[in-house]
Amino acid sequence: MRYKQIFSRTSKNVPADEKSRNAQLLIRAGYVNKVMAGVYNYTPLGLLVLEKIKQIVRQEMDAIGGQELLMSSLQKKSTWQKTDRWDDQKVDVWFKSKLKDGGTEVGFGWSHEEPIIEMIQQYLNSYKDLPINVYQFQNKMRNELRAKSGIMRGREFLMKDMYSCSLDETQHQQFYNSVIEAYNRIFDRLGIGEDTFVTFASGGAFTDFSHEFQTICSAGEDYIYLSKDRKIAINDEIMSPEILDKFKLTIDDFERVKTAEVGNIFNFGRHKSEQMKFKFTDKDGQEKPVHLGSYGIGISRVMGVIVEKFADDKGLIWPEQIAPYQVYLIGIGEQQKAEEIYQKLLAAGIEVLYDDRDLRPGQKFADAELIGIPYRLITSDKLGHKIEVLKRQTGEVEQLTFDQLVDRINGRK
Ligand code: ATP
Ligand code: MG
Repeated sequence: MRYKQIFSRTSKNVPADEKSRNAQLLIRAGYVNKVMAGVYNYTPLGLLVLEKIKQIVRQEMDAIGGQELLMSSLQKKSTWQKTDRWDDQKVDVWFKSKLKDGGTEVGFGWSHEEPIIEMIQQYLNSYKDLPINVYQFQNKMRNELRAKSGIMRGREFLMKDMYSCSLDETQHQQFYNSVIEAYNRIFDRLGIGEDTFVTFASGGAFTDFSHEFQTICSAGEDYIYLSKDRKIAINDEIMSPEILDKFKLTIDDFERVKTAEVGNIFNFGRHKSEQMKFKFTDKDGQEKPVHLGSYGIGISRVMGVIVEKFADDKGLIWPEQIAPYQVYLIGIGEQQKAEEIYQKLLAAGIEVLYDDRDLRPGQKFADAELIGIPYRLITSDKLGHKIEVLKRQTGEVEQLTFDQLVDRINGRK
């Protein structure tokens, strides 16, 4: 891609009310554009990153038998009344509106638990139809009281939500465990695996615990008690003498760290199915409620967490797996050599952003740092047929031939 072709530009200015570091950096670098507190547009650059995160998540969801679908954003009041969750006293993040037919109320989806049950109910008959494991990437709307964490807490944000419908506890538990493993693979691939911990959290009314995936992050809004030695993490919200007893640990076994919740998974048991009459006919001919699970990942929050964790004082630093482009190409002096390398990179299948603007090299260098693409390439007369390669993350500089460069980027050398 030629820089001249993407419309977003770097800027020194951010909206005065934007206090969050991830949003400030993403806005300055041209990935994100602020609409209002907690509401952001994603430019072509920003969308590339979101799509790469989605693709990693999608591959891992498909690998454990998930099927992708897409639910509507507009939801019916009657759907949520079945479980008494239409009530603003019960769910405090609802956005609602009315149709022009005289006032039929509709809600903007903040979750899809009830709607997905209502849909699958229309297809499910017997035990032979189970398990059903479905997921989607969908913009959730939540009227959050505070939205001060940039894209880490949106009033509109992108979530991956998965729902499992199982025959019984055994089938449910098997899938639940495979989701934990899939999530661990996802966070590893996203480059935050080492700092992400499966955390015991409040389970709601029907199970002792749910599991959250918490990533160490100073911009996060949660605290967890973490014991790296014992590989156990407990959300601050449920820490108590009783919990410590249960795990046979003392408070001194833990350090308290600030984290961001990047995902969480719930075992709903059969309660919600009973409320919604979501049943199947089992082998013995009896009607039984479906065993349900729900599994979220905050896709846009993950993007914000990655920004917060890796950025330095010069700008963003993307892990290679989710960078919008692998290389940022700058030609010094005559552009002929840069043009030629640009074409060769495209032919080699390397994602390249070529800074073809008529600007001084110094300005392009600063932008390359701000935009945070893993490798900055320079061509110039002085370098001859070699290309200068600067690794954004480490500042390491090398001069390579074109073939060496391609090997380097493809991770072969
Ligand atoms: P939180 O406690 O942070 O409000 P939650 O418990 O409401 O999260 P869920 O409803 O389980 O979260 O949503 C699944 C995932 O979606 C969360 O683990 C988180 O990563 C993400 N998420 C939740 N709310 C937001 C938000 N307002 N903006 C961005 N991501 C969010
Ligand atoms: Mg919430």
